[in-house]
Amino acid sequence: MTDPIFRPLFDLNPDGFHVDGKKAYQLLPVGGERTLKLMRAPGVVFKTVPTKDPVPESVANRTCIWGESGQTIQEPRIIRLRGASHGNAYYTAMIPGKYSECLVALVRRRKYVRVAFHFVSDNEGHHTLRQQGVVAKAVNRLNEILTPQANVEFKVAGVRGVQVPEDLGCLIGGESEAVCAEEWGKITKFGDPSADWNVFFVWDMRHPTAGDYVLAANHRRNCLVDDMTSNDRLGTVLAHEYCHSQGCGHVEGKQPQFLMNETEKGGTWLRLSDLEKVNPL
Ligand SMILES: [Zn+2]
Repeated sequence: MTDPIFRPLFDLNPDGFHVDGKKAYQLLPVGGERTLKLMRAPGVVFKTVPTKDPVPESVANRTCIWGESGQTIQEPRIIRLRGASHGNAYYTAMIPGKYSECLVALVRRRKYVRVAFHFVSDNEGHHTLRQQGVVAKAVNRLNEILTPQANVEFKVAGVRGVQVPEDLGCLIGGESEAVCAEEWGKITKFGDPSADWNVFFVWDMRHPTAGDYVLAANHRRNCLVDDMTSNDRLGTVLAHEYCHSQGCGHVEGKQPQFLMNETEKGGTWLRLSDLEKVNPL
């Protein structure tokens, strides 16, 4: 297979670029810009496509900062895309008589997620060891991962201690989904209903599949985090769990570069399918 025509400017900087066969995708914030390289010029003609797609609310503007055909320009040619309004925009790059490749600009408005953080204890003295000072760094890390890739921004809706008025025991959860749902429900009912997402820091969890090694678990708009999750990895683990809350599943096999890898070795890349769930059209 030949090299793709559309390439990100910096290959190691995940800012919402994806490639899938002859289609490339680039996230663009409304009002924001991304820069791509157009490979294998000259001969490549870049143009917008009149689309018959049923939903595009809008198109992104394009600014091409190279001369038109006939001029000799050093490779790579640079295209700068600017998001006009929420929607998808379509472009093609063609080598006449040969083939074309498509670029879909996924223009997304900023999505704000208000997160309430809860430091849990019970009436028998069990309590998380985590301190409230960890929140700011974790939220910074969440935003480092998900703002450039999905135009999602997390904000702190509140930070507080929650004392559950019963004995929750040394281990929260159990061997079955039913036990977990019951035990976790005793905690999550103290969440902030006005927040978009509630994070509960607890001491030690047990999970039906991950057992005692569980770092965190998400159920709908609630996330529980075990003290085993180090503060250094907290932001990355929270980004992973937030994606679960939006319907993202794990990647297949060992692909440690991805945020949704099951072993949580610190990967941060979103897949295209994750992006489309986390900040949908
Ligand atoms: Zn997971």
